[in-house]
Order: sequence, then structure tokens, then C-alpha cells
Amino acid sequence: MLMLMPSASPAYLTWLASAWDGRGLVLILTGAGVSAESGIPTFRGEEGYWRIGSRNYFPEELATRAAFERMPDHIWGWYLYRRSVCRAAEPNTAHRAIAQLEQRLTAAGRAEQFLLVTQNVDGLHLRAGNSLERTYQIHGNIDYMRPFHDRDARIFPLPQALGETWERGQPIGAAERALLVAPSDGSPARPHVLWFDEAYDEERFRFESTLRAIERATLVIVVGTSGSTNLPTQVVTRAFRRGIPFVVINREPSPFSELAERAEHGHYIEAAAGETLPSLLDAVAAASDHERT
Ligand code: NAD
Repeated sequence: MLMLMPSASPAYLTWLASAWDGRGLVLILTGAGVSAESGIPTFRGEEGYWRIGSRNYFPEELATRAAFERMPDHIWGWYLYRRSVCRAAEPNTAHRAIAQLEQRLTAAGRAEQFLLVTQNVDGLHLRAGNSLERTYQIHGNIDYMRPFHDRDARIFPLPQALGETWERGQPIGAAERALLVAPSDGSPARPHVLWFDEAYDEERFRFESTLRAIERATLVIVVGTSGSTNLPTQVVTRAFRRGIPFVVINREPSPFSELAERAEHGHYIEAAAGETLPSLLDAVAAASDHERT
């Protein structure tokens, strides 16, 4: 006789059921890996380098205030090209799963249970439907600019007249230079991102709000980040030290996956974000619902 066996539940769902009781703040931390499935290269990928003149630069050399001071046109060209890649991309399964979790919790009157902290500057989480209020863009957003002088923290959308496409290597001319100024005072503008030689702040990058959130979190979900930037490292090490259940999803090992494997309350899923997040976040929403019924 043929026996019908229930399909085995993935190990991470078993882990979630034992680690989290459905109450409290769920903090999701995302990095460039979440957008890789939308075709946006990560910084560690093969397409990471950028040629200026006869030299190849790595992103860590270009995404700096020092590089912008030295060669603003080249750096703007790099950002406008990256922005055109982002504009041409669409949110993927992972972005949609994260947006659906926020929407489910909000519809159930529990919006305060959700927070997304993203290092991505591509805006895809917002385009997938996450709210600006509950999405901390801790490294900025490539669709915006702000005065280079930094005395004014306001940000402005890039002018529509620039268009949305920019070829790799396309030079910046006088027309673009005239557009890339702060509407507030006409001074030269810079991309609204956090560069590697700059510090986080609250007003533009939600630094303190993120640290406060980790104090309240009862579940931390870390997706597609190599663990090489400061605030994300603080989030994950605090989760590790304070015994907050945390799960790390990445296609390959990273300092964060090592912490997840060392911690009794941690779990590492070696997989692509889009393969895992729909079922994981569905289980998160179900656990939260169950807690209220
Ligand atoms: P990173 O490039 O350093 O690391 C990406 C990580 O994602 C790697 O660990 C990789 O193994 C993993 N990964 C790749 N594909 C994946 C997938 N499908 N599913 C799950 N994981 C996957 O990126 P980072 O840690 O976010 O930090 C680098 C900096 O680069 C950040 O400051 C960020 O602002 C910036 N950045 C942003 C974008 C973007 O907005 N999309 C793209 C490139 C870089």
C-alpha cells in the first residue's frame, strides 16, 4: 500500500518554531545579496571594479568623500550608471516577501512589529511596497542627492531632466553639472549615500533609531550581506551577545553566518534569499497571528 508522507519541513522552520514565540519586534537587515536576484551586482561580485583612465578602482575606493573631492564628475558618472541599473531592475521574490510581511502585520494592526533596515541604495524595497516609515535606508538612496557642503541635511530627488539611463563610461558634461546642484542653494550636490570614509548619523541614516530597535527586537533576520559595514555589524553582534534569536541567509559563509552557527539562538541558511524568504516570512506572519488568537 502506498503511504502518503507529509513533506519534511525545512530545518529553518523547525528552528523558528522553537526560537521565536510570535511576539515583539521582527527586525530584517538586508544587503546587496537581496537585490542580486534582480540583476543588480553586489560589491563583491565580478563586476565590482570600475575603470577611470588607465586604472581599475574597487568600489571601496570610489564610494568615498575623498574620491568625490578629487574627481566629482567620474564619481557622479559611476553613480548615474549604477542608478540606471537600479531603475531598470524590478523587485524580486525576496523583496516582495518582505513587503508582504509588513503588509500582513499592518493589516492585522501590528505594524509596530515590523522594521526593515537596509544597506541597499537601490530603492527596490520601497518599490516592492515597504513603507518609508518602517524602512531605514542606512546607506542612503541612489535616486536622491544632497548638498556636498553638508550644512543642510535635506535630500532632493535627482532632476528628471537627467533621465534614467546612463551608459557605462558616459562623461558628465556642462549640462549635467548644471543639474547636479542642490535646489536649496545652488551649491554642488553629491549622491545621497553614506561613503566608506564617513560616519552614520540619525538625521540622514537612522543610526540611533537602528540601535534602539535592536534593543527591542525579539527576532533578527539577516539577508544577503557580507558583514563588512559598521552598523550592520553592530546589529548582528548585539543580537549575538544578547541572546536574541537571529537567522542569517546567504549563498556563502560570512562573518555573520559564523556567528549564527556559534550561537545557541542562531541559525544559518546557506541559500539564495528568494528561495527561502517566502516560506520563512510566511511562518513569521503565521506565528505572530497565532500568538494573538
Ligand atoms: P556585499 O556586496 O558586500 O555582499 C553581498 C552578500 O550577498 C555576499 O555575502 C553574497 O554572498 C550574498 N549574496 C549574493 N547573492 C545572494 C542571494 N541571491 N541571496 C542571498 N545572499 C546573496 O554587500 P553588502 O553587505 O550589502 O555591503 C556592501 C555595501 O554595498 C553596502 O554599503 C551597500 O550600500 C552597497 N551596495 C548596494 C547595492 C544595492 O543597493 N543593490 C549594490 C551593491 C553594493
